Amino acid sequence: MAEILAIGEAMEQALALLEGGDVVAIPTETVYGLAGDATNGVAVARIFEAKGRPRFNPLIAHVADRAMADRIAGFDPLSAKLAEAFWPGPLTLVLPQRAGNGIHPLVTAGLDTIALRMPRGFGGELIVRLGRPVAAPSANSSGKISGTTAQAVAADLGARIGLVVDGGATPVGLESTILKVENGKLRLLRPGGIGAEEIEAVAGAKLSRGATGIEAPGMLASHYAPGAAMRLNVEKIAEGEALLAFGRNRAEGWERAVALRNLSERGDLREAASNLFAYMQALDLVGAATIAVEPIPFEGLGEAINDRLARAAAPRDNTA
Ligand code: AMP
Ligand code: MG
Repeated sequence: MAEILAIGEAMEQALALLEGGDVVAIPTETVYGLAGDATNGVAVARIFEAKGRPRFNPLIAHVADRAMADRIAGFDPLSAKLAEAFWPGPLTLVLPQRAGNGIHPLVTAGLDTIALRMPRGFGGELIVRLGRPVAAPSANSSGKISGTTAQAVAADLGARIGLVVDGGATPVGLESTILKVENGKLRLLRPGGIGAEEIEAVAGAKLSRGATGIEAPGMLASHYAPGAAMRLNVEKIAEGEALLAFGRNRAEGWERAVALRNLSERGDLREAASNLFAYMQALDLVGAATIAVEPIPFEGLGEAINDRLARAAAPRDNTA
């Protein structure tokens, strides 16, 4: 069962968990977050595992300050103005990632953009101490409502995590507002803790909600898909295929594969999840027409891994 510690006495233990690649539930001004080191793939896989999320949607990366944000992403002038006005606070900005920023691809589900936010209070202090960004979706199991008290979080996730930091009831109680600047225009991706009017007043322009605004969790318009075709659950490798393997036993004809990456030699689904996006991208770069994928079990994180593979294998829909 998770320990519950008040913010005044939790810092060192929370920091030790993050440094050890583990997760910790923390209060933020919006709702409680389930935090993990955003540069550590196994930590990020543990977030999905603890939430029991059936799919890998991109997570918000939380930063300590603008300098950390600038190392991760590029700010256009309007995004910079909004960050200046609302950070720290319940505003998340979707921005283009900088190459080599150290963010693990499981955080962004392989996208080249990233959702960034600077939280107030304990979360902000924890990130300063860690010196690295923290990925943190709401601290609730998949399908349940977001936890706004430490007791609610412990009741829901307590069996799966070690520590809940108790900062009392979260002041905003709603998720952050998510915005993206596209061609100089502001688009609301998710309504939340800061009202549209307040944002429009600072931006000096109207928000568009856009007919293509279907970037709710799991419904991203532009999720990562390799250029190669994907063939799933293969038992036999065909000529010219690249192979995305899993576990110790290879599919028949594996020696023929033009390239091979093993998601987890020892069959560990957490390790496999942390390698998924990087290995799909690596095999895609080889230029094979098809990436063959060995069967992945459906238990635990296997469900989300299979979901993402199925999306990558689906016919491309450019109108979505
Ligand atoms: P949560 O962390 O559970 O509060 O949810 C994060 C939200 O941010 C989800 O609705 C995601 O779809 C959205 N999101 C995260 N990263 C991106 C991105 N790069 N582009 C668009 N939406 C994003
Ligand atoms: Mg949530």
